Amino acid sequence: MVKIETVEMHPQRWGDPAAAAPLPESARGLIEMAFGIDERPAVAEVVLPEADIDPALLDGLRDLLGPDHVLTDDEARRLRTRGKSTPDLLRARTGDLSDAPDAVLRPGTHEDVAGILAFAVEHHLAVVPFGGGTSVTGGLVARREGYAGLLSLDLLRMKRLLAVDHVSMTAVLEPGLRGPEAEALLAAEGLTLGHYPQSFEYATIGGFAATRSSGQSSAGYGRFDALVVGLRVATPVGELVLGSAPANAAGPDLRELVLGSEGTFGVITSVTVRVRKLPARKVYEGWRWPSFETGADAMRTLAQSGLLPTVIRLSDESETAINLARPDEIGGETAGGCMMITGYEGELGVVAARRREVSDLLTGLGGVCLGEEPGRSWSHGRFNAPYLRDSLLDVGVLVETLETATFWSNRDRLYADVKAALETTLGEGTLVLCHISHVYETGCSLYFTVATKEGPEPVEQWLKAKAAASDAMMAAGATITHHHAVGTDHKPWLAMEIGEVGVSILRAVKADLDPSGVLNPGVLIP
Ligand SMILES: Cc1cc2nc3c(=O)[nH]c(=O)nc-3n(C[C@H](O)[C@H](O)[C@H](O)COP(=O)(O)OP(=O)(O)OC[C@H]3O[C@@H](n4cnc5c(N)ncnc54)[C@H](O)[C@@H]3O)c2cc1C
Repeated sequence: MVKIETVEMHPQRWGDPAAAAPLPESARGLIEMAFGIDERPAVAEVVLPEADIDPALLDGLRDLLGPDHVLTDDEARRLRTRGKSTPDLLRARTGDLSDAPDAVLRPGTHEDVAGILAFAVEHHLAVVPFGGGTSVTGGLVARREGYAGLLSLDLLRMKRLLAVDHVSMTAVLEPGLRGPEAEALLAAEGLTLGHYPQSFEYATIGGFAATRSSGQSSAGYGRFDALVVGLRVATPVGELVLGSAPANAAGPDLRELVLGSEGTFGVITSVTVRVRKLPARKVYEGWRWPSFETGADAMRTLAQSGLLPTVIRLSDESETAINLARPDEIGGETAGGCMMITGYEGELGVVAARRREVSDLLTGLGGVCLGEEPGRSWSHGRFNAPYLRDSLLDVGVLVETLETATFWSNRDRLYADVKAALETTLGEGTLVLCHISHVYETGCSLYFTVATKEGPEPVEQWLKAKAAASDAMMAAGATITHHHAVGTDHKPWLAMEIGEVGVSILRAVKADLDPSGVLNPGVLIP
């Protein structure tokens, strides 16, 4: 029996602060040199607005779900306010939790969810499906004006592995399972999903599907949307069950309409996923390239030769230098150039063969293998960056990430334009780091990390830079998001990306499935 114990995230920080390590002294020195240390005052006490909902409606919801599953206490409401973007954290740090829901509902079954939606339609209540709460694009910040109340529909109780088909290699998972919980249940069956976004420890199966998430091992296992075989969805107009065969030609694939719908068309109540055998071997290693360009070209060659490892990522010169900026490594053998991480997971023979083929190709293209140590170090620290963001915010350094994707032929232009937009808007002393996080035969995604000295209005400071970067993505013909989704933050750029007809399709589907607009109002649909 796999025991599942859910640790809640701190409302103003990432994850479980007990798991956060203090800023290392060496890093502190570097930060002082680059930005100066400006200790922030203790994080302000958070102020919750009074719940603004008729108590009789709460009684009605209690009749539906049972009294234990309708929470109105401050703690429950605090923990279900917004997501974990840097602006979300900055607002929470100043004590502003003005988007708090009036109540938190904890359904246990698909029927409970359907009942909540019917109740919400009848009483015109806004409903925000809540998975792990790791959204970085305002996907949990629904509009409340015009509604009789704002409810967080927390999927925390829906955490079962409902079925496993060892012959077809599929599993049916409930939406509230976090990454490690889903992996633990599958591991007990000798299986894995292989989906490891950086938010893995807290994000959920339902959230992965609702945002079309992509993980660090997606080159090998596939993006989350590629792993989804079937879905069960509760919508305000009824149930939608999709995925009766591994592939079909039965009209447009409606699964694609649900994937990425960010809780605006319905609530995903179970996901059937493709699974793999637990890998017998996992090995990661580092490669050095003379430049970002040569490393990126090598990635393209690999992808187009059908020879991708399970993990492949390449840091640009700045990100490589920062990652290696430890006193004992500066000037050392591994310093300089650009660092690539490759990783292989699977059966022993398959891993050995793929590793050999990839290594031969990369060596032929001018890469230098640095062995397993950089790979071990990456794998060990792969989920730590969000904790580091909190430590940097603590000393007055504004840090945030953004991502995009384009075709290979447009890669260099996109990289240069987004970097320039960020540097110009944020000014001198800003660090813009980039890595290629995902690759395809036809293109790749670029993931930027930005660090700058926090000004007096840090949220506005960041939003201005983000708008400039987003405009640069559009001007370069790239996408506004490769895997962070749209939420509320990316809506204006989504409209530019899909055009008037695209927007009208989204609005039509919304009007059909959620005619009274109770699901996540203001999210995704321009
Ligand atoms: C530090 C950090 C690192 C990250 N790294 C990655 C990464 O590597 N790759 C990546 O893809 N993303 C990443 N993200 C973004 C985020 O983790 C993903 O978007 C994730 O898929 C969200 O899952 P969640 O369960 O937390 O969903 P939530 O944040 O709770 O919800 C996200 C959206 O989906 C809706 N939703 C949630 N559950 C359901 C459901 N069952 N039915 C319908 N709608 C639902 C919500 O209403 C909301 O609009 C990162 C975020 C952070 C903070």
